[in-house]
Amino acid sequence: MRIGILGYGNLGRGVECAIKQNPDMELAAVFTRRAPEKVSILTKNAEVCSVNDIEQWKDKIDVLILCGGSATDLPEQTPKYAELFNVIDSFDTHARIPEHFDDVDAAAKKSGHIGIISVGWDPGMFSLNRMYANAILPEGKDYTFWGKGVSQGHSDAIRRVEGVKDGKQYTIPVESALEAVRNGENPELTTRQKHTRECFVVLEEGADAAKVEETIKTMPNYFADYDTTVHFISEEELQKNHSGIPHGGFVIRSGKTGWDLEHNHVIEYSLKLDSNPEFTSCVIVAYARAAYRLYQEGQRGCKTVFDIAPAYLSAKDGAELRRTLL
Ligand code: NDP
Repeated sequence: MRIGILGYGNLGRGVECAIKQNPDMELAAVFTRRAPEKVSILTKNAEVCSVNDIEQWKDKIDVLILCGGSATDLPEQTPKYAELFNVIDSFDTHARIPEHFDDVDAAAKKSGHIGIISVGWDPGMFSLNRMYANAILPEGKDYTFWGKGVSQGHSDAIRRVEGVKDGKQYTIPVESALEAVRNGENPELTTRQKHTRECFVVLEEGADAAKVEETIKTMPNYFADYDTTVHFISEEELQKNHSGIPHGGFVIRSGKTGWDLEHNHVIEYSLKLDSNPEFTSCVIVAYARAAYRLYQEGQRGCKTVFDIAPAYLSAKDGAELRRTLL
């Protein structure tokens, strides 16, 4: 499978690393909106090209992996490039997935390609686990907890506060809430009861720490509904201890079975990720294999993780899967 990467940020680099672990794939080219000579990649025999030249690669790439941002890049790029390639993205604005699906579906059907959207861990592996658990235990309750991990959006929000030079925000699940869910207590949990937020902030010189802390803690939508802790640290400390992009979380469904619902069951799926983009990239690359196979079979249009049978993700064939993993 010849893979193209469009957009070379955290995810783009993660996809490049993931391709290295999958011998049935090779990286053909990385496309960027920046000047190609300013973007240096890790793979020796792959090209870095301007996105303006992408059309020349129409017959040289089996699946194009879109690694741009969900806010503004992917809503435009995924439908656009579905006109030329089989595409896959990690679009994670949950509320806008239905319209994104429609846009990619129309483009992919018109051009005769496959598009797979919203692949990663959430949306992605978490969505799959929510769906499996719902189908298996119709009588029950769903819970998703995120963290401990870095929230890019909340870190950006901190950095926009006056007096803040730099900052990182961690989302942390509340342990007692997790325990109650795992015990099958089916608690009703408010936003505040599910997660706390911890901020590490580097102040501008002369900034008023108390004012910065107050502004962060009362920020609507981002922090006001949570118990938030703010730590002031040096720039060196932020670099040394908070430069990673870890994340993870838990998808739990607790349900009841039996004639009088007398038995409890708890299904739990959890992730603890050292690198959010590298893990997300590994999921995307497995689904790129599925995109290629679906295309070969003659399928067209947009798909999500719900539509794709698990065997399509694996490099192993059906006989080997049945022998080793079933
Ligand atoms: P980045 O900000 O690192 O990269 C986004 C784009 O920015 C790149 O593709 C790149 O495009 C452009 N860019 C511009 N200047 C630079 C620069 N100097 N260095 C690096 N990139 C630059 O975002 P991420 O890769 O971390 O994340 C991309 C998206 O992945 C997120 O918006 C998120 O929605 C999604 N995601 C989804 C997950 C899921 O579970 N579904 C999980 C994690 C992320 P170009 O090369 O064209 O300039």
